[in-house]
Amino acid sequence: LFAQALHGQGELYERVTALHARALEGLRRDRALRRRFDRCRTTFTRERPRLRRWFQQAQLTPGDFLRAQEHLLPILREPEFLHRRLPRPATELLLRLPGLQALRGPIEKIFSRSKFTVGNRLFRTRLHRGQPVIEGEDAPSLSALAGIAHELGHCLAERHLLRRQRCDAAYSETVAHFFEELAVRDYLETQGSAREQVAWERYQRKVDGCNFFFFQEEARALRGLPRVRPRLFPPNTYVFRESLYSMPGYQVNYARASLTKARWLACKRTLAGFLAMTEGT
Ligand SMILES: [Zn+2]
Repeated sequence: LFAQALHGQGELYERVTALHARALEGLRRDRALRRRFDRCRTTFTRERPRLRRWFQQAQLTPGDFLRAQEHLLPILREPEFLHRRLPRPATELLLRLPGLQALRGPIEKIFSRSKFTVGNRLFRTRLHRGQPVIEGEDAPSLSALAGIAHELGHCLAERHLLRRQRCDAAYSETVAHFFEELAVRDYLETQGSAREQVAWERYQRKVDGCNFFFFQEEARALRGLPRVRPRLFPPNTYVFRESLYSMPGYQVNYARASLTKARWLACKRTLAGFLAMTEGT
């Protein structure tokens, strides 16, 4: 698919894009979903002046992305330090974070059920016998710590282990995004340099920028409008934004997660602070 997508043709690529087009067509008739996209867009527009700094930081440039054969791929280039070797596997380091101590019991249970495999850098939450479990690699790196923290957020939200009793995809994604950003930030505050802390924040704003960009793209597709201009990526490379194809209509949940982060991060600066306020999301 990689080679076919770069050339914009090939049997598999054409099948994937045709399936996606059909899924979008079906979703265009889903009024409730379109209303969610419209509401989210209205909120972004209304809050734009207040969130000016966030929008500036979330602005995407070609230098933020990986390239393949002269094409810009919608995959963010991770800062180098995320891959440096840490003294212990990510799960052990997460369990030591002061901000997570209140949830240590449930987190240990989730980790013990999870399937960590060497070399699997695709972090996911799956249901196994009715329980959410994490898949991915428990490597001694910040990249793994960020990936596992994100999925841990999904697991905790979906098992109603946080204060909020109701869980929907937007809420689950919001908790996951907060866990990812704040767990790494908490770790870097004691074990990292000031430069790494700044680089992590900058990288996270680019994650938000991507969420917003693909939310706009999907919102336009649902209204039957052409893509956002100027085009940042060639459309044939969109298949590398996996969620766009595996979960059509989902980008609104990423956008909501980023929007909530944009509103709250300025004041809730720690994981413990966020956990105390989960009802506010
Ligand atoms: Zn997620």
